[in-house]
Amino acid sequence: MGFAVHDFEALLEFTLKKAQEYYPEFGEVEKKKIKKAFWYGYDKHAGQKRFSGEPYFIHPVKATENLFPIKPDIETIQACLLHDVLDDTDATEEDIKREFGAEVLFLVEGVSNVSKVQLKGPERELENIRKLFVAMAKDIRVVFIKLADRIHNLSTLEYVPEHKQKRIAKESLEVYAPVAAKLGLFEFKTQIEDYSFKHLYKDSYQKVSDEVVASRKEQHTFIEKAKEEISQVLEAENIEVAEIQGRPKNLYSIYTKMKRKGFSSVSEVFDLFAIRILVNNSSDCYRTLGVIHSNWHPIPKRFKDYISIPKPNGYQSLHTTILGFGKAPLEIQIKTVEMHQDAEYGPAAHWAYKHARHSNFDTDYVKRMDWFPQIELEEEDSAEKSYEKISQSILESRIYVFTPKGEIVTLPENSTPIDFAYSIHTDIGNNCVGAKVDGIIKPLDYRLSNGSVVEILTQKGRNPNPAWLNFVQSSRTIGKIKNYLNKQKTPSTAPEQEQKKQEEREKPRPRFFQKLERFITGSKSKPEIVIGGERNLPYRFVSCCKPKLGKDIIAYKTRGLDFSVHEADCKQLDQLEPERFLEAHFQIEKFFEATFKDRVGLLKDISKIIADHGINILQSNFQVDKNTNLAYWDYSIECTGDPEYKDVMKIIKSLPETVKLTEK
Ligand code: MN
Repeated sequence: MGFAVHDFEALLEFTLKKAQEYYPEFGEVEKKKIKKAFWYGYDKHAGQKRFSGEPYFIHPVKATENLFPIKPDIETIQACLLHDVLDDTDATEEDIKREFGAEVLFLVEGVSNVSKVQLKGPERELENIRKLFVAMAKDIRVVFIKLADRIHNLSTLEYVPEHKQKRIAKESLEVYAPVAAKLGLFEFKTQIEDYSFKHLYKDSYQKVSDEVVASRKEQHTFIEKAKEEISQVLEAENIEVAEIQGRPKNLYSIYTKMKRKGFSSVSEVFDLFAIRILVNNSSDCYRTLGVIHSNWHPIPKRFKDYISIPKPNGYQSLHTTILGFGKAPLEIQIKTVEMHQDAEYGPAAHWAYKHARHSNFDTDYVKRMDWFPQIELEEEDSAEKSYEKISQSILESRIYVFTPKGEIVTLPENSTPIDFAYSIHTDIGNNCVGAKVDGIIKPLDYRLSNGSVVEILTQKGRNPNPAWLNFVQSSRTIGKIKNYLNKQKTPSTAPEQEQKKQEEREKPRPRFFQKLERFITGSKSKPEIVIGGERNLPYRFVSCCKPKLGKDIIAYKTRGLDFSVHEADCKQLDQLEPERFLEAHFQIEKFFEATFKDRVGLLKDISKIIADHGINILQSNFQVDKNTNLAYWDYSIECTGDPEYKDVMKIIKSLPETVKLTEK
């Protein structure tokens, strides 16, 4: 970087230059503020040394440098330069307040509180984490500083005594990396993971990093070739590309993937990198996708539209995986430049350009973070208790689902209708007998996905089933079910009675439906049915409702090894055990041919109409004839057999842009 490490004058110049780069309103006032904090910190830490032997003040300066890409405001820069003065020097709260004001003091105190060690043993680590999250709820900037601080400490971890190295690396990997990811700070997350990996699993790190370095040349050639071919086809379609990048996977994610898949060498990981195409606006994203899909073969079901439905942390992009470059599938991400900046340094764009006096974030960002510190931490919670709450509600991934009225509900990933029911109201959970997801009856252990609309069917007087505990996800749900079940137990209940009660609950329901079951005769080949997302499972149709192709269906796990398939509105379903239901649908692929008058955003709008009806697009080939301005779209959808797709086709047919739409 061309500056002498010990030359603090030069470090200051560098810091000011960086601040100026990232800070549009940078002027003399801001310059003066940074200079003041810089020399104050320098004086206070004078004579102190790091484990590396460097002057201590190098550390806050480097931490501040880490912070710059997220475009911190002046108070955050000052606080970061001063973040260790309260703990490690004779500076007092009064001093900081007098010299730098209440806001900077608040941030410095926040960081110092997080860092303070008051407890011994494992309790101590939990306490640190608890404080981190309490601080986060108060002012997110404290966490930004803490992350920047942690990244610099990790980058110099080799100088720290060995027993401390492992502890710090472990805590960073388990707590700080997920926190960075949840905040949308992927660049921070990557750095924290790779540094921690290096110190926590030295041998594995060495092996993975050696192998990655060795394969780099070959990868580079491949990426360059892919970039060139992609830019050629996009240019031919007159799509303006801001940039095409080959994004390498970080070492720690390669390592975790190898472990998950049981690979012994890096060469077995095919997605060592993804191609990222940056364009200027979101309608160009969809056009680019169309061009990519018509030039290379997309792998069905690997297409993800995070532009229409962003991830809970706000991440937006189109993801698809195509075949045709070399032997392995290639992941392609398509997004706008703005979406990309957001993804790398989450708050950045929202922060610097809307530098309001009192708030550093625009409302969008704050809103996005709403779901984040939802942990209701109490100051008096014990460290262990807090940790439980935190790990339950923060460190796990979350999904967004909707009530039929369109209200948003956030739940842990893999949540079921039962979790949803309890998150609305305890009584709704207790009385839950069934659920409709996107209008279709689903079993109670169905895994909800992002964007689903969930409607809970209740019946007064029904009780929660202990078996629900086997599949519900959120700790809140578990607590509520257990709470209800415990209340049912009277203190006088003898253990045998309890046992009996349990058996009664689990006893199979009358089996009369089984008598009714028989194979549908007369049809030689059974239609393909997907049960719980799996194909080729043994199933039988039941005669109580004789499911017809095109109807909503549901599978029921029989006492034998197969499934009986009912129509979703079959009267017999009420007699059966809700826990044994599995989602099922006829697997039908329908092909269409359409012609539209082209306009900006057309494909996106039509894709959205289809997606909004819960229908997957399996194949898509979109081409525009620039001479006639007509767009030709050949596509296929995964049809569950329900008449919904016909409704969707009607809607598309009635669009003013539609010239022709036919089923092939
Ligand atoms: Mn520090």
